[in-house]
Amino acid sequence: MRVLGFGSASLIKVPLTDSMRMDENELERIITKLHSQNIPILAVIGVLGTTEYGTIDPIDEIIRFRDEFSQRGIYFYVHVDAAWGGYLMSLFRAPNGQLLAREKIQQELTYFPSKRVYKAFSTLRQVDSITIDPHKQGYLPFGTGGFISRNRDIVRLLNSHADYVFSDSEEPDFLQIGQYILEGSKPGANAAAAYVAHSVLPLDCENFGRVIRQTIRSSEYFFDCLKILKKELAGKVCLTVPFEPDSNLVTIAVNPYGNQSLALMNQFSEAIYKELIHDPLAPVQSKEFLGSKTHLSINNLSKDEQTNLFKKLHLYDKERCTKVGDKILILRHTLMNPWLSAENNGENYLDKYCLFLKALLLKTLVEFNHERQS
Ligand SMILES: *Cc1c(COP(=O)(O)O)cnc(C)c1O
Repeated sequence: MRVLGFGSASLIKVPLTDSMRMDENELERIITKLHSQNIPILAVIGVLGTTEYGTIDPIDEIIRFRDEFSQRGIYFYVHVDAAWGGYLMSLFRAPNGQLLAREKIQQELTYFPSKRVYKAFSTLRQVDSITIDPHKQGYLPFGTGGFISRNRDIVRLLNSHADYVFSDSEEPDFLQIGQYILEGSKPGANAAAAYVAHSVLPLDCENFGRVIRQTIRSSEYFFDCLKILKKELAGKVCLTVPFEPDSNLVTIAVNPYGNQSLALMNQFSEAIYKELIHDPLAPVQSKEFLGSKTHLSINNLSKDEQTNLFKKLHLYDKERCTKVGDKILILRHTLMNPWLSAENNGENYLDKYCLFLKALLLKTLVEFNHERQS
């Protein structure tokens, strides 16, 4: 909105449900309200796989509203940010491009795709445009972005012609793809790499989808392991998956049992995280596992969602342990490596990680209790 000159205040954030997905009822309320005030809506943007939690917005509902409202003369463009999750689509496509039935996709998996996730992916073909990052779940080197538009004429809008790079042509020339972006000269090797990689492993369930499927299987296995770990840690550390994963990104939050201070809980989580990040002064091999984190702003959750999450973390008196602007430290696991589990007769790194995490949590707990007492 800033680039277009509307100002960032013109961007309206749609509230989320307790599972970190766009709340379609809120979206409907906002569209109706703007319509009654005669305020036009430029576009509605859904996220297909958030960077933080891998959660999937209800793209099908956005499309339903677009179709319903357009009959009343209100139209908006629908863009989907699939930078992170777009490649999951390869699990839903047969080699001939047809959409697979949900039951078929589920055959080799435990939870994926949920009904909600399936609906979102199956309506993806009805949106106006999509961004997708080959340098994420496409496993390509950094610096490869994709923009897919239903209306080819949009390339004329984006065209920025550089005489020193491109030859003249009246019609869109997709061999000169580099001109359809608001940027001058740039390397083309990454785009060529995406083309070659997708030609070798086409983006369907029998080719590239096999890689993605394996990462989802690992995540489902890990998710089940966490349920066991949670029981094993009972009475010592409270471990919870704050938002049920939609894909191959699994997050956890941890709190020493009995602790009623959010600040202390974050201190504890930060100590765990410190063991999971690369130390620039040590060889990378000195870490057994690498993990990342994110911060969840409590203000971004509704009152009910806050209560639910605090209950899961055994923080009972929310008013006492939080103040405005507080955040919760969340540990993120991006399970993109297809060789994590033992299915190919290798070592099971997920079992190893769970043992490692358990030992780390218990060790940190001892230090934490010691400090609290002194
Ligand atoms: C990574 C990401 C972006 C930004 O993409 P860049 O590759 O950094 O340009 C946008 N949206 C989502 C959901 C992402 O995961």
